[in-house]
Amino acid sequence: MPTYDYIVVGAGTAGCVMASRLSEDPAVSVLLVEAGGSDRTPMLIMPAALPFVYQSKRVQWGYRSGPEPELDGREIDEKSGRVMGGTSSINAMIFNRGNPLDYDGWAVDGLVEWDYAHCLPYFKRMETFADGPDEWRGGSGPMQVSRSEAKHRLYDALLESGEQSGLGVTSDHNGYRQEGMHIAQASIHRGLRWSTSRAYVRPAVRRSNLHVLSKTHATRIVIDHGTAVGIEVADGPGVTRISARREVVLCAGAFGSPKLLMLSGIGPADELRRHGIPVVADVAQVGQNLQNHPGVDVQWAADHSDSLTAAIGVIGRARLAAEWGLLRRGLGATNFFEAGAFLRTNDQVAFPDMQYEFLALTRRLVNGRLVPVPGFQFWMDLSRPHSRGHVTLRSAYPAAPPHIVFNHLSDPRDLTDLVAGIRLIREIVAQPAWTRYNRGELTPGPDVTSDAELEAFVRRKLGTSYHPSGTVRMGADVEAPVDAAGRFRAVAGLRVVDASIMPKVVTANLNAPVMMMAEKIADQVLGRPALATDHVDVYRRTQHQDSR
Ligand SMILES: Cc1cc2nc3c(=O)[nH]c(=O)nc-3n(C[C@H](O)[C@H](O)[C@H](O)COP(=O)(O)OP(=O)(O)OC[C@H]3O[C@@H](n4cnc5c(N)ncnc54)[C@H](O)[C@@H]3O)c2cc1C
Repeated sequence: MPTYDYIVVGAGTAGCVMASRLSEDPAVSVLLVEAGGSDRTPMLIMPAALPFVYQSKRVQWGYRSGPEPELDGREIDEKSGRVMGGTSSINAMIFNRGNPLDYDGWAVDGLVEWDYAHCLPYFKRMETFADGPDEWRGGSGPMQVSRSEAKHRLYDALLESGEQSGLGVTSDHNGYRQEGMHIAQASIHRGLRWSTSRAYVRPAVRRSNLHVLSKTHATRIVIDHGTAVGIEVADGPGVTRISARREVVLCAGAFGSPKLLMLSGIGPADELRRHGIPVVADVAQVGQNLQNHPGVDVQWAADHSDSLTAAIGVIGRARLAAEWGLLRRGLGATNFFEAGAFLRTNDQVAFPDMQYEFLALTRRLVNGRLVPVPGFQFWMDLSRPHSRGHVTLRSAYPAAPPHIVFNHLSDPRDLTDLVAGIRLIREIVAQPAWTRYNRGELTPGPDVTSDAELEAFVRRKLGTSYHPSGTVRMGADVEAPVDAAGRFRAVAGLRVVDASIMPKVVTANLNAPVMMMAEKIADQVLGRPALATDHVDVYRRTQHQDSR
C-alpha cells in the first residue's frame, strides 16, 4: 500500500500552500491528491478569459445551493474549482487580505493566536507585492500581487467621488487602511493568473518527497481506533487505499471538506444515520455555520465612448488577444475589476461592512449569456452577514453533490444592511465626479426607492461572491470541530486547512486569507516556531479623514 507521511486532500488554494510548505522538509514525504486535472490551459492562464472560465464545466464542480427559503425558493449557482489550484485557478484574482479587525475579532472570540499581529507576518511571507515591501507588505513570497493599471476615466471618477463624498481614498487597502475607494490589486504577474498551483506547487514539484496525484477523487478518510491513518480514492468501480504515517490534511474546501468528513462517518450522527453511514465521531457542527458574501449588482448607463465597452468591440478584442498573446500586456492581462471600495453603511460598525467591486462597463443577460453593455456597475456584497447556512449530504454516494443551503437573509439585519449599501452607492454616484458619465440608473432603477421596493429587489436578484466558509469551524470552544491549529478535535491525525475553518468570514475575497491560514498552520504541522508577531499601526475609524 502506498504510504506517505502527510496526505493533503485537495490541491486548491490551501492545499497547494500546505503541500509545498510541508515538502520543504526533505525528511518527510507528502502526497497531494486532487480530483480535477491540469490547470495548464490558456483559459486559466489569461486573466481576461474569466467569462470563459466561469462557463466551463470542465474545471468546476457545478454546485447549486437551495432551495433558498428567504429567496422565494430560488437556487443559486455556486462555482467551485475542480482543477489543480482549485478555486484559485478559476477565481477573479482580486487580492484582498481583509480588515485587521476581522482577525482581532477572531482573537477576541478565543483564538488568541489569530489576531492581526500573528497573521500579518504570514500575509507578508506569502507575497511579493509589485510595489515593494514595507511595514505591511511582503517582498519575496511565492504569491505575486500587482496593482491594477486602472487606465480609464471611470476609475478616476470613482476615486474623485471618494474624495467628494468624504468617504476617502486609500493608497493600499491591504496595508495601513482598508476603508475607502481604492485601485484594486490582483494575483496577476507578467500578464498571467498567479494561482496557488503556479505559485507554490510548480516550483516544488521537482522535489522527490512531493508526489502529486491529479484526477484522483478521495472518497473516504480511513479512521482506525480514532486516528486518521489514510484515505481511499476512487479507482474505476473500486477504491485504492493510501496510508498516512503522520496526518491526513483535509483541504477540500468549504463544501468538499465537510462532505468528505461526513462520508467518512464524522459529522452530526442523525445526518450520518439518515444516509446509512456508520458513525465514527458524532460532531454536530460539521457542515454548520456556513457563511458567504451575498450581494447584488447596482448598474448605471453611460455613453459607449465613456465605457470600457468601447475598448472591447470586434477590433478591441482582436487587439486585446494580440497584445496579450505577444506581450502579455493590455486588457488581456487584467481581470477588469480594477477599482473598488470598502465602506461602512452605518456608524455602528467599527470597520467596513460592505465591499464594492467596480466594473467600467455593465453586463446584461441575453439568451443565457452575459453581454457587455455601455455603463458602469458595482457588485456590492455584505462583508459580515449574520445569516448562517449548512452543508449536508444528498446521499452516501461520493460522486453526489452536497446539499447546500446558505439561508441568505434569514437574519433580517442582512437585508437592512444590503438596502443601506444600495443607498450608499447611490450617494456616491450622485457626486459631481459622475455627472458627465451618468446616463441614469439601470438597476435597481430610479423608481425603486422605498425600503419595500429595495428589499424586493434584493430578494429577487441576490447572488453570492462565491466565498463559502465556516463549515468546519475553528474555535477555542470544545464544540468547534477544529482547534486553533486546524487539528480535528474528535479524530487524531486529522487536520482541516481551508476556507471551511474560518470561524467568521472576513471582509475580503477569500483567496489571500485562506493562503495566509495555510502558511501559518504549515509551520505548526512542521513544528517550526511561529513567525514573530508584527504590531503595526492600522487605520481605525476615529482617524476618519486620514489622508494616507
Ligand atoms: C467564481 C469565483 C470567483 C472568486 N473570485 C475571487 C477573487 O477574485 N479573489 C479572491 O480572493 N477570492 C475569490 N474567490 C474565492 C476564493 O478563490 C476561494 O475562497 C478560495 O480559493 C477557497 O480556497 P480553499 O482552499 O478553501 O478551496 P478550493 O480552492 O476550492 O480547494 C479545494 C480543492 O479540493 C479539491 N477537492 C474537493 N473534494 C475533493 C475530493 N474528494 N478529492 C480530491 N480533491 C477534492 C477541489 O477540486 C479543489 O481543488 C472566488 C471564488 C469563485 C468560485
